Amino acid sequence: MVNSSIPLEKKELLKLPGVGNYIAAAFRSLHMNIKDTIIDSNVVRLYGRFWGFETNPETRRKKWFIKLAENLIPAKRHKDYNYSLLDFTRAVCKLRPDCVNCPLQVKCNNHSKNIE
Ligand code: SF4
Repeated sequence: MVNSSIPLEKKELLKLPGVGNYIAAAFRSLHMNIKDTIIDSNVVRLYGRFWGFETNPETRRKKWFIKLAENLIPAKRHKDYNYSLLDFTRAVCKLRPDCVNCPLQVKCNNHSKNIE
């Protein structure tokens, strides 16, 4: 607990009104430095492009996808990893991806599809 009012456990956070998985994970990771997996549509889009699998609005709730995302979070600097994902999907692998300038282009399955 923080100030005896905000729980730190995920399942307790999810009981609070208006708190879903994204908010709970973002609070824990970015504000409390507790290892957690932040998944939003941008993360789904990036991972889908990178590994070349189809995604849809439900992908973020699929157990296999959550497991994949959890496995990618490093033990150390997990907060930096999450911040990097947020920044990278905003600045590079955005809706119209900047593949030409992307440092992941060599390994990305979607790279050649996005070169105009
Ligand atoms: S190469 Fe393009 S599609 Fe692949 S991760 Fe980079 S920006 Fe995204």
